[in-house]
Amino acid sequence: MECECGKRVELEGADAREYADRHLEKLEVDTAQWTVRYVCPETGRPWLMDYPHSKYPARTEGDQAQPDEPEHH
Ligand SMILES: [Zn+2]
Repeated sequence: MECECGKRVELEGADAREYADRHLEKLEVDTAQWTVRYVCPETGRPWLMDYPHSKYPARTEGDQAQPDEPEHH
């Protein structure tokens, strides 16, 4: 994908995810803030993506899903 990091100030929604997937390099995932830091491999420009909490589940390393607990009566 062509580098648009010099032209674009902000990326949103599915567009942002596709751009990040194809072009940017993922640096780190902040599970507390629901953000992912990326950097452009060509220009070195940093990007920060955040995930709206309800809409997109964050794709984090090591899913911490809790198993359903049996109910106690
Ligand atoms: Zn770029």
